[in-house]
Amino acid sequence: MKKRKPKQNKPIKAVTYLDYASATPISASVRAAMATVSGVFANPGGIHRTAVEAKKTITEARKRIAETIDARPEEIVFTSSATESNMLALHGVVDAWKENHEEKPHIIISAIEHPSIIEAARKLEMHGVEVTRIGVNSEGVVDTDAIALALRPTTVLVSVIQANNEIGTIEPIETISKLLRKYRKENISMEYPLLHVDATQAFQYLPVRIVKPEVDLLTLSSGKIYGPRGIALLFIRNNIPFISPMPGGGQEDGRRGGTEATELIVGFAKAMTDAVKIRDKEKARLTNILEQAKKELKKKIPDAVLLGHPIQRIPNNFCFSVPGIESEYLVLALSAKNIFTSSRSSCGTAKKNEDAIDSHVILAIGGNTSDGTIRMSFGRDTKASDVRRAIAVAADAVATWRTWSHAHKNS
Ligand code: PMP
Repeated sequence: MKKRKPKQNKPIKAVTYLDYASATPISASVRAAMATVSGVFANPGGIHRTAVEAKKTITEARKRIAETIDARPEEIVFTSSATESNMLALHGVVDAWKENHEEKPHIIISAIEHPSIIEAARKLEMHGVEVTRIGVNSEGVVDTDAIALALRPTTVLVSVIQANNEIGTIEPIETISKLLRKYRKENISMEYPLLHVDATQAFQYLPVRIVKPEVDLLTLSSGKIYGPRGIALLFIRNNIPFISPMPGGGQEDGRRGGTEATELIVGFAKAMTDAVKIRDKEKARLTNILEQAKKELKKKIPDAVLLGHPIQRIPNNFCFSVPGIESEYLVLALSAKNIFTSSRSSCGTAKKNEDAIDSHVILAIGGNTSDGTIRMSFGRDTKASDVRRAIAVAADAVATWRTWSHAHKNS
């Protein structure tokens, strides 16, 4: 009988994932933590023994999570996503104002918020809420003087992203917090305006705390920090005016109805404590890679422009524009070589019945929307050589495009 040749395993193609700002994989330690509670499935709202066990598991995880941001456990409200947390923050504050005031509430947001804030504010505006959108400079830093000028006695909330998801700029939250507190003192209203911060992209690299700078509401998400997707949180400072639009069955102290996802919460807690432990080391490592990437970009694509602030930026965001190129062309050219990036943010690119829409962030920084923009976002597995290779492939793609378009024009 003929001996069969042993089956050869196909060589695994090297894959370079540079889209960590869109999604992170679940880390091994988070998976392990979740596995320890995979049998804890009972509804934590019950009173039988297994339900109580589930409740206890959540209570412990909530405590660990609260500690990482200096909050009290009861100030943590679990939601399903950062989008939901942002929506809950805006609606909860606006609804509480409406309950006690005749005047229309006013909210302030920056022009470069994540779409989950931009769209929530637009919806509120359609229902009579006054909205001021504050511009940013060409590096994406929000104009804090304009915030100060926009404040009025009916301003209930100012919402500013801590680190922008498209261009990585870190916003001056401390300054904004101080000016709101000063306004509160001067205007007798001890309660308003409140400050909401979307720290979804910042948590891994910045000391996200609710004490200094003092914030009243804060959004964080598990799916961006190597935890499971489907779980996020909204920190709501004790005793601030807040009426939830979704009290449901009274879970989370009536601030967010819906049966708690025990396993996901445990995974989220582990992801948060892990991120805090390695924060400084990872920040330094990625800053070093980012600095190398900036130099390499100058060499390989000299007319490319790094977007966002040159220094005040999270170290995993490397977003640049290239004159006269289609963003999608670049992303697909890289993808063909197993390098996975994004044409900016993964959010908002798939609106139905619309061609590719211009980024509100690029518009806000005065960028040329006909330039191609590409975002490479780094993560725990990223090495300097990965980024070097990605820039080299991008440079080749740019050269091919330019040769082709030149030939096309002259034909
Ligand atoms: N805020 C920021 C800053 C984000 O980066 C994202 C995700 N890109 C969100 C909110 C929304 O997160 P999700 O899609 O998980 O709801």
